[in-house]
Amino acid sequence: MNKRVALGLFSGGLDSILACRVVADQGVRVIALKFVTPFFDHELLDRREEYARSMQAKYGLEVELVDVSEGYLRLLENPVHGFGKHFNPCIDCKILMLRRARELMPMYSASFLVTGEVLGQRPMSQRRDTLRVIERDSGCSGLLLRPLSAKLMAPTPAETEGLVDRERLYGFSGRGRRQQKLLAAEMGITEYPTPAGGCMLTDPNLAARIKHFYNGLFSFGEARAVGDVRLLSVGRQFKLGDDLWFILGRDERENIRLEKMRGPDDWLLRMTVRPGPLGLLRHAGLQAPGWPDEAEVLRRLAGLVVRYGKKVADEPPEAEVMIDKGASIVHQRFAPLADDDAQLWRI
Ligand code: SF4
Repeated sequence: MNKRVALGLFSGGLDSILACRVVADQGVRVIALKFVTPFFDHELLDRREEYARSMQAKYGLEVELVDVSEGYLRLLENPVHGFGKHFNPCIDCKILMLRRARELMPMYSASFLVTGEVLGQRPMSQRRDTLRVIERDSGCSGLLLRPLSAKLMAPTPAETEGLVDRERLYGFSGRGRRQQKLLAAEMGITEYPTPAGGCMLTDPNLAARIKHFYNGLFSFGEARAVGDVRLLSVGRQFKLGDDLWFILGRDERENIRLEKMRGPDDWLLRMTVRPGPLGLLRHAGLQAPGWPDEAEVLRRLAGLVVRYGKKVADEPPEAEVMIDKGASIVHQRFAPLADDDAQLWRI
C-alpha cells in the first residue's frame, strides 16, 4: 500500500513544527512546505539544502522551500481581507499559501494539508469564523487538518477516512503556549524560535517603509521587482531626489548583503582610507544621463558615505571615496555631509 502523504504549512515556529510532527508520528509522510517571500525568509533560498538538513536534524521533518514572491508582491496591492495593525495582510497571506499548497498536492500525491493553527491564538487570523473563511477562500474545504485544535472542531475527511487517528490529535486553544511547550518536551524538541517571528510586514518601521514604497515612494516601485523590495529591509535609507534611492550598510554584514544584492544598474560607493558603510545607489545607471548636475549628486552621496564612516582623531574629516559605476570607477575626495541634510533625506 502506498504511504499516506500530507503537505504541511511550515513557518518554522513551534506550532507548525508540532502540527507536522503530530501527523508524521502517525506514520504519514509529511512534506513541510516553508514559504518564502521578500518579506520573510527569502535568504533561505541561498542555502536550501543546508536548511532542509538542519530541519531534518532538529525536528525530524522533511522541509521544502516554496518561493511565492511574485504572487505575494501583487497580493499586497489590495488584499481582499485588508491589513492587520501594520502592513500585514495575514488572512490573505494564509489563503495564498494554502492555495499554493493545494496546487502542489498532485505533484506529491498528497491527500490532505496540515497547518499549525490554534483556535483563538491570534486575534485576527485564528478566530473560528476566520479559520473557516481562510479554508473556504483558499479552496481547501475538506482538505485541511489542524492537528493542534482538531478535537475542538468537526472531524475532517483525513480523520473520518482513517488517514489519521483523531484520538491522537489535540484540543489546544487560546493564546497561552503551555500545552505546546509540554508537547514539545514530550517529543524531545527543546530548541525552537520565539513566537515573535520574522515577518517584516509586522515590524512597525519596516512596514511603514514598505507601505510608502507601495504608495509611490519611487516611480520604479510600480514594477514591484523582488530585488527592489528586498532592499527595503537593509541599512540606512535615503531619498535624495525623485528616484534617487541610496542605501548605506550599517555594519560589515549589511555591506556584504548590499554588495550581493547589487543589480546591473546600481552604483557602489565606499571610502578607501578608513572603515565605513558601503553605499548603493539603486538604478543609477539608468537615471544618471538625466541628472542636471552629476557632480552635485555625487557630492551628496559620497558626503553621506563619509558622514557615516568611522571617525578617526587627528585626521581631516574629508576622505577619498571610490565610486564604482559598473563600467568605470572613479576616486575623489569628499567632505562629510552636514547632519541636517542627512536627516532631511532619511526614509
Ligand atoms: S505575520 Fe506575515 S507571514 Fe505571518 S500571516 Fe501575517 S503577513 Fe503572513
